[in-house]
Amino acid sequence: MTIVTRFAPSPTGFLHIGSARTALFNWLLARHQGGKFLLRIEDTDRKRFTQEAVDAIFESLKWLGLDWDEEVVFQFSRADHHKEMAEKLLTEGKAYHCYCSPEELEEMRKKARAEKRAPGYDGRWRDRDPSEAPEGVEPVVRLKTPLEGVTTIQDDVQGEVTVKNDQLDDLILLRADGTPTYMLSVVVDDHDMKVTHIMRGDDHLTNSFRQKQLYEAFGWEMPQVCHIPLIHGSDGAKLSKRHGALGVEAYRNMGILPEALCNYLLRLGWSHGDDEIISRDQAIEWFTTQNIGKSAARFDMDKLINLNGHYIRQKDNSTLMELISSNLEELLERPLESHERERLIAGMEGLKERSKDLNSLAQSALIYADIIPYDFDEKAKKFVGEDSKDILMSIRACLSVVSSWDETTVESALRQLADNLELKFGKIAQPLRAALTGRSISPGIFDMMLVLGQKETLDRLDFVITL
Ligand code: GLU
Repeated sequence: MTIVTRFAPSPTGFLHIGSARTALFNWLLARHQGGKFLLRIEDTDRKRFTQEAVDAIFESLKWLGLDWDEEVVFQFSRADHHKEMAEKLLTEGKAYHCYCSPEELEEMRKKARAEKRAPGYDGRWRDRDPSEAPEGVEPVVRLKTPLEGVTTIQDDVQGEVTVKNDQLDDLILLRADGTPTYMLSVVVDDHDMKVTHIMRGDDHLTNSFRQKQLYEAFGWEMPQVCHIPLIHGSDGAKLSKRHGALGVEAYRNMGILPEALCNYLLRLGWSHGDDEIISRDQAIEWFTTQNIGKSAARFDMDKLINLNGHYIRQKDNSTLMELISSNLEELLERPLESHERERLIAGMEGLKERSKDLNSLAQSALIYADIIPYDFDEKAKKFVGEDSKDILMSIRACLSVVSSWDETTVESALRQLADNLELKFGKIAQPLRAALTGRSISPGIFDMMLVLGQKETLDRLDFVITL
């Protein structure tokens, strides 16, 4: 049997970080077993539907590298078929028309509350003759669910979970306006898409009982289910807006790499021994539902940022340059020149050691663009004032006669200069760093000068000396 998993997001405007993890797990399970990973957009809530929200899902999945097989299924486009399937159950006597008014339903709810029962429909139209139907009332269609016995789910994570059938009332399949309900659409779609494994957040666990009853009414086998504990915030409460960013896009904008986010999301609820850094290939090789944790995982931003730092350091220098180039162009408000791109690649080794996200990497990489005239941060300002002009002029004179621009020659020339001036080397390095970058923090001074080259180094010193 080829395994078929699916990801079935509702377009809400962005791809929720918890949904991204669900997508990742489904994708990994399919790829691990050489099966298919399908995508279904659950777009039946037409009041909230926007194309942008659907595009946000596509964009985020693509960015995360979670490619799907086959055409995307749009649930709303299948509504007529869902309706037909409910009508089939009606013809077979497995569903029925219910003409209850909202007042009657409210009455039932009150009664149930008073009797301390779970609120639910009492089945009063289950066996009533259709000739008793009130005039001018459009009925809903309900499933005739078993009144006795139990419904049991074998969940890959939660184990065996059972509910008594008298706790489940007769589920609505079609609303009074003839539109199918979510429960009907999900079951028909999963069946038609030949889904073999449903993996989703455990907030859907209770839906599984109702869905199982529907599978049984249709005479279909229910896919294997696997309900993953939700992600909580660092305070242990369900992840919500007050915990900060919720959408994948927001993490992308923070300068997080997709590899880091996937690795982090994978470890959030799944484990392979003590391994923290898990490549995509390893994840595909190792992923099974057996290692999914049973309790909710807590989202830890610091951990994500640290993992991101790891993946940044692992990336090759030209890829990193490409990744930050649009960010840099925004900061510079102009396109990058090709010599700047070369300089950035050459300087990337020293830059990436210090950066934990692409935005801060771009900020620190700015020093390798043509930046004259540039501003100075507060600390750097102190090193390039009038008191430092003499030292800077001496440095300029010294560097202008260095015959070979390599680390050994440049370093020994500057150390010689420090000796001659009877200064500690730091007294030269600090104003030099500030003068070359406008900043008090930068990659190593020699590394930086080599990347800048002799001419740019001298030009920057001239700019500061003549300020
Ligand atoms: N559309 C549902 C959601 O976004 C998922 C339903 C399912 O996976 O069965 O939560």
